[in-house]
Amino acid sequence: MSEEMRSDLLSLPVIGVDLGGTQIRVAVLQGARLLSRVGLLTGRDSIPESIIPRIYHAMQKALEEANSSFDQIAGIGIGVPGLVNSPAGIVFVMPNLQGWINIPLRNILENDFHIKTPIIIDNDANAAALGEYLFGAGRGCNFMVYLTISTGLGGAVIMNGQIMRGSSGTAMEIGHMTIHEFGEPCNCGNIGCLESVASGIAIARHAQRAIASGKGVELLNFARSLWTRNTLESNGSASLIQDPTVYIQEEGNEANELQHIDAHTVALAAEAGVPEARAIIERAAEALGIGLVNVIHIFNPERIILGGGVSQIGPMLMDPARRIVQERAIKVPREAVRIVEAQLDANVGLIGAGALVLYEVGIENMVLARTQEKYKNPSYLVAR
Ligand SMILES: [Zn+2]
Repeated sequence: MSEEMRSDLLSLPVIGVDLGGTQIRVAVLQGARLLSRVGLLTGRDSIPESIIPRIYHAMQKALEEANSSFDQIAGIGIGVPGLVNSPAGIVFVMPNLQGWINIPLRNILENDFHIKTPIIIDNDANAAALGEYLFGAGRGCNFMVYLTISTGLGGAVIMNGQIMRGSSGTAMEIGHMTIHEFGEPCNCGNIGCLESVASGIAIARHAQRAIASGKGVELLNFARSLWTRNTLESNGSASLIQDPTVYIQEEGNEANELQHIDAHTVALAAEAGVPEARAIIERAAEALGIGLVNVIHIFNPERIILGGGVSQIGPMLMDPARRIVQERAIKVPREAVRIVEAQLDANVGLIGAGALVLYEVGIENMVLARTQEKYKNPSYLVAR
């Protein structure tokens, strides 16, 4: 993409909606730049009838804060954590939100809320991948695979500027690739999925299980000392006290304590040398390495971009994974691929959602040679 094209793209104002299991974030963006941002908690009542009006009001508020309006933006991109029929604008299912089964989200926004601007809905991993492709670690890359390792494990493929969606929109459910033939059952119905070993929730679950079985005494003690330290540090600091991640320990309630062991705690314990924690991270790293070998063998990509909170564990996770790639992957595709860290920060979901609009509305398929002339004429965008 030429620099001139890039700067044209950056000037298109769009709305990005990052719909999460715990938070709904909405922003007005120009490229990767946030002009305004509104965040609200998804809350317990996550049925569409409750969430959709809240998305609409958050969009209104974000527009207000950016001194803009619906008719001044090029479109609305919505990234959702679930299975989506993107061309039809239908959410098939969102496992972490209640009642989201076959919801025609785009139609509802158009008909019930009278939104006239284009609305593009896609899986959040596709959105994040597109964000990295346009503004982050995927720039200049013709064939990239994106992996996001956070609570769950998702992925996307962008080839020659196109998102690979599969025949019904569910391609690249990479977290549900089988890693262990006789592994644990997964929520998806398969067994031994990558997500059941290498995701944030799996790392936390393995730690909780180790502690419950009496094997993780040192890990539990480490977590307790961490909580005590956080509680002490939060004294006198209003912002930290309000932080829900600061857990005030309830003495003698181990079941309650277990719930607060998360992947971040396990990573810190592993870094501090707690053997049980190291073993859990090592197991996740090996599974990730095997997953990467499979991805390299199937796709022969130019770049694999790793994003998401768990990938920030860093060398402890990445070094064993890279070692497995080095040892097991076939030479030709192995030497062709670069495995790199994602570049966009915590706003990747918003930037990616906004990028969905640039993808669909601005420069179809990113085949720039073909669209360059049309694109230079702004009426082309309006006409579409
Ligand atoms: Zn699965």
